[in-house]
Amino acid sequence: MTPGRGPAPDEGSDGGPDEARDRARDRALDRALDRALDRGPSAAGRRDELRRGLERLDERVGAACAAAGRDPAGVRVVVTTKTWPASDVVHLAALGVRDVGEAREQEARAKRSEVAAAGWADDVEDPGVEDPGVEDPGEGDLGPEDRGTGRPAPGLRWHFLGRLQRNKAAAVAGWAALVHSCDGDRLADALARGAERAGRVLPVLVQVDLQDGVDPRRGGVPPADVRALADRVAAHPALRLDGLMAVAPQGPDPARPFARLAALAQDLRGDHPGASVLSAGMSGDLEQAVAAGATHLRVGRAVLGERPPLR
Ligand SMILES: *Cc1c(COP(=O)(O)O)cnc(C)c1O
Repeated sequence: MTPGRGPAPDEGSDGGPDEARDRARDRALDRALDRALDRGPSAAGRRDELRRGLERLDERVGAACAAAGRDPAGVRVVVTTKTWPASDVVHLAALGVRDVGEAREQEARAKRSEVAAAGWADDVEDPGVEDPGVEDPGEGDLGPEDRGTGRPAPGLRWHFLGRLQRNKAAAVAGWAALVHSCDGDRLADALARGAERAGRVLPVLVQVDLQDGVDPRRGGVPPADVRALADRVAAHPALRLDGLMAVAPQGPDPARPFARLAALAQDLRGDHPGASVLSAGMSGDLEQAVAAGATHLRVGRAVLGERPPLR
């Protein structure tokens, strides 16, 4: 203790009028800066919003696992950040999120470099398969105890889960921890070439179209073609077949399409025992997906809010 340093006890550092005025001025400056940069609610406000979103999601996933008699460690949440700014990814990373999902190559590329500049590097080496026996328990996906502790970043896994054009496949193959949306032979071949060029083995899911072609914009191969595409993916040395992905058709009862997906996955594991990933379930239907055995949930709105309109 150095005498003469720090406020004397009678100078009132504990909320005196000067301090209150300073704080009010800081807040006003923050708000003015936010308005000037058009970045909506202040950074601290946004982080709190996301923290609450993650807590609500944890509760839902926990309850869904309890109802299904499953261990929550077997369910990985991929927070889907498409259309949201890189600053949100940085908040999420600081709150303990390790898996984020993007749907467009260009958007993802720009965001990844911003997020890396903020200190959160990629972790593309992660296989994307949950292996509770090996994973460092301190690095759990969404354990609340990890959040806000400011621990050094172990790295982010960027998942790709949108429709993928073949001419973007090579780029995605260079950085994606897991491609959820492989839905064609030529796309599989393009991903394989990109992965080979990048000198890595790329984990891939075959996307299943549970509506059998009713809405081709949604992507996926019909259930009847899953096996052939899976075999083709598995035959590429630069690709690794990790399992299946699907988006439930809009409708009152996602449990039935998810059950169909689970049956396809089980069937596939007969020939490809390593294909253990089942990516299913979004903000609106994650409970049914967990009940059907999903290992990966892709959740956007429930954490980040309603999406800003696509630019
Ligand atoms: C956007 C998106 C999600 C997340 O959907 P939410 O309803 O926001 O949870 C999941 N999967 C895919 C393929 C997506 O494009």
